[in-house]
Amino acid sequence: MEQLLHDRDRVGVQDAVLLENYTSEEAFVDNLNKRFNENVIYTYIGPVLISVNPYRDLNIYGPKTVKEYDNKHFFEVPPHIFAVTDTAYRSLREENREQCILISGESGSGKTEASKKVLHYIAEVTDHRGDVEKVKDKLLFSNPILEAFGNAKTNRNDNSSRFGKYMDIQFNFEGNPVGGNILNYLLEKSRVISQVPGERNFHIFYQLLTGADDALMDELNLKRNMSSYYYLSNGDKSNVAVIEDRKDFGEVRKAMSTLEFTEREQSDMFSIISAILHLGNVGFSEEEGVSTILKPDIVDIVAKLLNVNAEDLKLALKQKTIETIRDVVTSPLNRELSIYARDALAKAIYDRLFTWLVKRINSSLQPETERKNVVMGILDIYGFEIFERNSFEQLCINYCNEKLQQLFIDLTLKSEQNEYEKEGIEWEHIEFFDNTIICDLIEKKHECLISFMDEECLRPGEPSDITLLAKLNTKLSYHPHYISHQKADVKLQKIMGRDEFRLIHYAGAVTYNVKTFIEKNNDLLFRDLREVMVNSDNSIIKSVFLESEQKSKKRPETAITQFKTSVNNLMNILRDKEPSYIRCIKPNDSKRAAYFDSHLVTNQVTYLGLMENLRVRRAGFAYRRTYEQFLKRYKCLSKDTWPNYNGNAKDGVEALVRSLAYGDKEYQMGKTKIFIRHPKTLFSTEDAFQLK
Ligand code: ADP
Ligand code: MG
Repeated sequence: MEQLLHDRDRVGVQDAVLLENYTSEEAFVDNLNKRFNENVIYTYIGPVLISVNPYRDLNIYGPKTVKEYDNKHFFEVPPHIFAVTDTAYRSLREENREQCILISGESGSGKTEASKKVLHYIAEVTDHRGDVEKVKDKLLFSNPILEAFGNAKTNRNDNSSRFGKYMDIQFNFEGNPVGGNILNYLLEKSRVISQVPGERNFHIFYQLLTGADDALMDELNLKRNMSSYYYLSNGDKSNVAVIEDRKDFGEVRKAMSTLEFTEREQSDMFSIISAILHLGNVGFSEEEGVSTILKPDIVDIVAKLLNVNAEDLKLALKQKTIETIRDVVTSPLNRELSIYARDALAKAIYDRLFTWLVKRINSSLQPETERKNVVMGILDIYGFEIFERNSFEQLCINYCNEKLQQLFIDLTLKSEQNEYEKEGIEWEHIEFFDNTIICDLIEKKHECLISFMDEECLRPGEPSDITLLAKLNTKLSYHPHYISHQKADVKLQKIMGRDEFRLIHYAGAVTYNVKTFIEKNNDLLFRDLREVMVNSDNSIIKSVFLESEQKSKKRPETAITQFKTSVNNLMNILRDKEPSYIRCIKPNDSKRAAYFDSHLVTNQVTYLGLMENLRVRRAGFAYRRTYEQFLKRYKCLSKDTWPNYNGNAKDGVEALVRSLAYGDKEYQMGKTKIFIRHPKTLFSTEDAFQLK
């Protein structure tokens, strides 16, 4: 570090707290830019790591680098994800403190790669005995499986995770991994039935179609031709990825055997994937409002693959049964509703298969003994999203980020306060924007966005997106962070449509379009289809549908309420852990190396709340070092400490800063560290050192 401090004109400062003009977003981004141009992608804000995606292999994760960071003090080495991981790992190992590494950033910014680097580093620095290696293999190999089923090519990222992921690594008292556990959030299941131009369905579909051998293809009734399948037909079918898909399929199969998936489980999974492909090809026609199935033999194939009764399945695609208080009513579906039912079934099957997969992986990752283990969690979850058009999914994602921001503020302030107390330094109150008001607007009992959405979804009659919006506008317009169509006219920042509302999030204003909110929140699968699935002889299908049937015996929970529950569970898991933050930034929108788009980066700096982060950090003391470290470097600057000094480090530093004429307000002496308020003070000391 101290070396780089001197090169600050060229490579910028490695910790943004050292920026003279720390309130300037421009200076902040410029600093990242300078470093990026020198192939330095990592920068700190105090303990928070900022990572700018280089979009090329920088050769900075090899064994040599691991060695450089292994068991080093955070500030002795240049910023790196290994430094953050090492610090967390040491704290876990030496102080028995549970850790979590929170990675955020927008799609394509490098979150998933970062999470893999964390795991990779842990795998490298822990024991290499056989039993430990086996656990690590399982942890590492869970990735290709989850990515095959949960990732897809999007216009932003060729390998975009379409779900949020929290992974625990469990360590024994020796500091070796013994197991793990994964939680998944909000799989983007709509991708199963359609994709926007240039994007693809989930990788596994292509992997199976290109990678399966002929015998498996026959068994699954599949043809290699991608355009035979309607659910793949609007996706990108370019052949560039073909070879990768085939190779990746091999990797997935290998991973499945490492995680001890049985042959039966694998064949059940592939049957399901194939069934979904065939299901998409089931077409309907309509006569007098009643739909008929165009090619019933395709349904026969689907039924065979899912191991369900074909006639029951056909019926369930053509009719719906509703249970009222008095009786059970069956009515035919028209063509549109049959298509809706078909697509809903495909999405439900895929979504539940994914959840099953996570559970199955978790059972392989369970530690062999029941001892108390210490945990390091890694959270790789979608960052704040502001698109041209924002829908239900963005609302969920942004709500989750609002909660993470709240946690971040809590934990950051708490840890600053802790350090001050531990060091016996007077605590100064720091002003910060408390986003509790926004979290409450979204989730606080009875009187919030979520409760009004649920009320509207579950009320009898004909709730629609528009009646929902009317309700929200009536109930929430009083709130300073809720902007309705009418209210927007007053403050005309951006024209709003009549089917939109706007929330002022901590990271900025987002306009949401209510279209499909009701449908997505209800997440309805007709009962007839559920019943067919429950009676399946495919063990995966049977178990996942039975399970959700039992859960929703009373009143089915809406999608947003389920999400709220899982987000709050996550917050509880994270709350009692020591956090490390990695904020990922995408340098440009074209997946290009060596190109830094300052405008784009500035937006992300805003959404990630980095300036606020820096402000909070600077409100206290910009720089702090242990007396030993400080004295070791600067002792030559005073004759009180150089060439001969035998006293203790604290007295030495005291003498040193006196002779350097530090102002009284400029620094404080803690129990083990010196705290320096302004970077200027440190810079002049550093310059004096360099001149020596
Ligand atoms: P996210 O999970 O945030 O959507 P990814 O982690 O999938 O983004 O990264 C997108 C792509 O960017 C990766 O597939 C890889 O090509 C590139 N990338 C990300 N991080 C790095 C890195 N540290 N070094 C080199 N390339 C990277
Ligand atoms: Mg990702």
